[in-house]
Amino acid sequence: VPRVFSGIQPTGGLTLGNYLGAIKRFVDMQASGIETFYCMVDLHAITTPQKPDDLRRATRELAAGYLAAGLDPAKSSLFNQSQVPEHTQLAWVFNCVARMGWLSRMTQFKDKAGKNREAASVGLFAYPNLMAADILVYHATHVPVGEDQKQHIELTRDIATKFNHDYGVDFFPIPEPVTEGAATRVMSLRDGSKKMSKSDPSAASRINMTDDSDMISQKIRKAKTDPDALPSEASGLNERPEARNLVNIYAGLADMTVDAVLADVGGKEFSVFKPMLAELAVSKLSPIAAEMARLMQDTAEIDKILRQGAQNARTVAGPILEKTYDIIGMVR
Ligand code: ATP
Ligand code: MG
Repeated sequence: VPRVFSGIQPTGGLTLGNYLGAIKRFVDMQASGIETFYCMVDLHAITTPQKPDDLRRATRELAAGYLAAGLDPAKSSLFNQSQVPEHTQLAWVFNCVARMGWLSRMTQFKDKAGKNREAASVGLFAYPNLMAADILVYHATHVPVGEDQKQHIELTRDIATKFNHDYGVDFFPIPEPVTEGAATRVMSLRDGSKKMSKSDPSAASRINMTDDSDMISQKIRKAKTDPDALPSEASGLNERPEARNLVNIYAGLADMTVDAVLADVGGKEFSVFKPMLAELAVSKLSPIAAEMARLMQDTAEIDKILRQGAQNARTVAGPILEKTYDIIGMVR
């Protein structure tokens, strides 16, 4: 049976990248009628230092973002990872399946650990094993993610394949990443070669889902660009990463293809295109931000939704973990 799992880290405010690359896809997949599990991956968040109060707030704000964007607790299981202990239990098993060499090749670890790898947490290194467990503990088959997570899904597939092979079973499905639309990799507004991230120290590099209209317009107005007018065909965006990024964002927000956008705006200067983009972004994001603010006034209600989502998730994850232990030879 097809099943969807995905998650986002409560490491800061949600960005336009998280919205276009992940949350908007989550909502689409919820509408498809497939069983969907959407997680706030708080245990991933602590692979880099988080202040307890910030983590609590970010988890609730992420939940509010999910709900405001259209996820419905009656249709999807919405929960934070630490309330479903089966994720970490299966992750230990996968720590013993994955190889050091596999994890050493993960570009996210290299990026986030930086130059001083010896000082990175063990959790940051083992992160992909927990992510594999997040997905496989539900036997999920489809994982909507941004481009940057494809390597981790590839590793998840390797772990599932090795487990099945080592134990001579056909137990874990081999999940597929789902990266769709024009904006699967939204770039920083300050640097077209860097991914837009929640955790980027530069606030001007990203649009936050909670930014007000003025802030959104100002960040788009100041976004780095080149001096040329927009091309009328996608090939004209080659070697123009900043221009490509703004066109991709427009296409993602408008649910259009890049070609269709360029058919409309090709030949226009950025002084004309940027205000168009700002208006579109404000019209799509403002209602979500307003609803997030409303939901954040009642955190007890959010916590209740997460508890119920976790209970529901455990009814699926529990038996899959038990079966895994049985396959491995753990006495019950
Ligand atoms: P952090 O900097 O803490 O890693 P992040 O913004 O990368 O934060 P994650 O929680 O790591 O967010 O990722 C959540 C989801 O959002 C993933 O599916 C990821 O692929 C997607 N995503 C993150 N950034 C972008 C982006 N710039 N463009 C498209 N998708 C993105
Ligand atoms: Mg990330």
